[in-house]
Amino acid sequence: MPPISGSQDIRQYLEDLIQSNKVLLFSTTTCPFCAKVKALFESLNIKPFVIELNVVDNGTELRQALSAKVGRTSVPQVFINGQHIGGCDDTHKARDDGVLSQLLKNHNYDYDLIVIGGGSGGLAASKEAIKYGKKVAVMDYIVPTPLGTTWGLGGTCLNVGCIPKKLMHTAALIGQTLKDGINFGWDIPENVNHNWDRMKDEIQNYIRSSNFKNRVDLRQKSVDYINSYASFVDPHKIKCIDKKGNETFLTADKFIIATGERPRYPTDCVGANKYSITSDDLFSLPYNPGKTLVVGASYVALECAGFMRGIGLDVTVMVRSILLRGFDQEMAEKVGDYMGIEGIKFLRPFIPTSIEQIEAGTPGRLRVTAKRTDTNEEIVDEYNTVLFAIGRDPCTDKIGLENTGVVKEKNGKIKTISEKTNIDHIYAVGDILYGKLELTPVAIEAGVLLARRMFGNSTVECDYVNVPTTVFTPLEYGSCGYSEELAIQEFGEDNIDVYIQNHWPLEWRVAHRPENSCFAKLIVLRSENERILGFHYLGPNAGEVTQLVGLPLKMKATKADLDALIGIHPTCAEVFTTLVVTKRSGLSADTKGC
Ligand code: FAD
Ligand code: NDP
Repeated sequence: MPPISGSQDIRQYLEDLIQSNKVLLFSTTTCPFCAKVKALFESLNIKPFVIELNVVDNGTELRQALSAKVGRTSVPQVFINGQHIGGCDDTHKARDDGVLSQLLKNHNYDYDLIVIGGGSGGLAASKEAIKYGKKVAVMDYIVPTPLGTTWGLGGTCLNVGCIPKKLMHTAALIGQTLKDGINFGWDIPENVNHNWDRMKDEIQNYIRSSNFKNRVDLRQKSVDYINSYASFVDPHKIKCIDKKGNETFLTADKFIIATGERPRYPTDCVGANKYSITSDDLFSLPYNPGKTLVVGASYVALECAGFMRGIGLDVTVMVRSILLRGFDQEMAEKVGDYMGIEGIKFLRPFIPTSIEQIEAGTPGRLRVTAKRTDTNEEIVDEYNTVLFAIGRDPCTDKIGLENTGVVKEKNGKIKTISEKTNIDHIYAVGDILYGKLELTPVAIEAGVLLARRMFGNSTVECDYVNVPTTVFTPLEYGSCGYSEELAIQEFGEDNIDVYIQNHWPLEWRVAHRPENSCFAKLIVLRSENERILGFHYLGPNAGEVTQLVGLPLKMKATKADLDALIGIHPTCAEVFTTLVVTKRSGLSADTKGC
C-alpha cells in the first residue's frame, strides 16, 4: 500500500479499495473471527482481496477511516460489490440467506444452478452446491403411473425403490425367523398370517415422514424446492408446469439433469398397460396382490418375487432368458435355485402375450397367455396380479433436450465426461447416465463430487469401478468386481483361478435349513500374485458382508492378504478367510466342520 498522508486521502483510498474490489475483507492476522470469514470464503471458493490492517502501512489510519465509515471498530469487515456486508456473523448470515450468492453471481439468470429431479442424485448435488453460496433450485415432479400412483420428494430410492423394497424384504425375513424360531424353542403357531395392509401402511407412513424431512432439509439449507415438471425451452431456460397446470419459466447459469428412470411396459403383450402393475405401484398397493405373476428376471423382478413369496403369496416368475443379466451366472442360478426351494415357480423361457380381465376387483382375476420363446408353445394361467419388472426407461424424452443441443444415446441415456454433457453448462447424474451403474449410492456420490467440482476447487471424480452391490432375494447375493464370465473374457481362463466354498450358516443348522445353499466365490488373477478380481457371496446379510469389500478390491488386495486376515467366528463372512478349493482342483466345495 502506498504511503498516504491526510485524512482526505485515506478516506479516498478506502473508497477506491471498496469500489475496485468485488470481494474485500478488512482483517487482522491475529483475529479469530477474521480467520473464520477467510475459511468461509475458502469453502465457497471465493478469493477476497484481503487488507491485513495490522500489517499494511497506514493500517491504523485506514482502520480509523473504516470505523468512521461503517460505524464499527471491529474486524473483520466485508464489502461485496461496494456494499458493506458486516462482520463475521453478518457474513455467515448473508451466506445462509442467499444474499452472498446474489451479490456474487456474474450472470443475470434466476439461479446459479437448477437441478431437474429431486431423487438420490439431484438432492445430493443441490445440497452440496448450496454450500458454495450458490442460488440453487430443485425441480421435482412425479408423473402418476397408469394406475394413478404418485409419491413425495425423494425420488425412486425412498418412494418406490430401495427403501420400501428392503422393508418388505425384511417382512419376509421376519417370516423366516418365525419359522426358525420353533427350533430355537419359541412356541409359535404353525400358521402365522401376514397382514399386507398393516405392513404397507407402516412403510408408507415412514416414507411420508421422510418426504417431509426432505422438504424441511431443503428449506433449512435454502435450496428452493419447486414441485413442477421441468422441460428446457432453451439452453438456459426451463418451463415449469405444476400439478394444476400453471406454467412458469426459470433461468439458470448451470443445470444438472437427474431425472432418473421409470418402469417400462411391454409393447407386445395385449392388455399389459391396462391390467398390470409395476414396482411403482406395488409398494403402496391398497390391497394384498394375491397370486402374482412377476415378469422379468433382474434385480427388481427377483427381489419383488422374493419378498412376496416370503410373506406367503403364491408367486411365479416368468423369465425371458437368463437370471440377473450382467451378474455372475453361477451365482444367479443359485439365487434362482434357492427361490425355488422357497416355493417360487419359474416359467422359463417364456414371455407373456396377452392379459385379459376375468373378474374386476382388488385384486381381481386375470388370465395370462404366454409363449415359450424357443418353441412358441402357448400356456395359459390365472393370477390376481401381474407385475412387470422388465427394465426401466430414462426420463429424458419429454424434458426438451432438443432445445439444448444435449445429445442422447439410442436408449435415451445421456453420455457424459465427468458428468458433463456435450453442452458446457449442462451436467447429468444418476440413473440416466449412459453406461454407468444404476444405484443410489452411486448417484449420491456422483452428485456430491460433481457439485464440488462445479463450484469448488475439487478435481475429485466419481469412481464407478468396483462398486459393491447386493440383490435382496430370499437368499441374498452380494458382489463386487468381475463376474467369472467377464474375468475369463478379459484375462483368459488360464490366467484366473476361482476359489469356491459352499457354506452352512451356524444358525441354519439348528433351524434345519438347507445345507450347502450358501456359497462363496473369489476370482483371482494368477499373473498378478492372485490379485482379487471378483467377490461373490450368497448367504444371509449379504449387504453387510459385501459393503467393505470394495476397499480391498480398489487397493488391489491379493488372495494372500485375505488368507492373512483372521476371521470372526462364528459368522458367514469368515468363509472368505479360509478359501482353499479352486475350480481347477476339482475338489469338493461342500461345507465341512463347524
Ligand atoms: P431418481 O431417484 O429416480 O429421481 C429422479 C426424480 O426426478 C424423480 O423424483 C422423478 O419423478 C423426477 N423427475 C423426472 N423428470 C422430471 C422433470 N422433467 N421435472 C421434474 N422432476 C422430474 N439402488 C440401490 O442402491 N439399492 C437398492 O436396494 C435399490 N433397490 C431398488 C429397488 C427398486 C424397485 C428400484 C426401481 C430401484 C432400486 N434401486 C436401488 C435403484 C435406485 O433407486 C436408483 O439408482 C436411484 O434412485 C437413482 O437416483 P436418481 O437421482 O438417478 O433418480
Ligand atoms: P434390468 O434392465 O436390469 O432387467 C430387465 C429384466 O427384464 C431382464 O431380466 C430382462 O430379460 C427382462 N425383460 C426385458 N424386456 C422384457 C420383455 N419384453 N419381456 C420379458 N422380460 C423382459 O432392470 P431392473 O428393472 O431389474 O433394474 C434396473 C436397475 O435398478 C438395476 O440395473 C439396478 O442397478 C437397479 N436396482 C438395484 C437394486 C439393488 O441394488 N438391490 C434393486 C433393484 C434395482 P433379458 O435378460 O432377457 O433381457
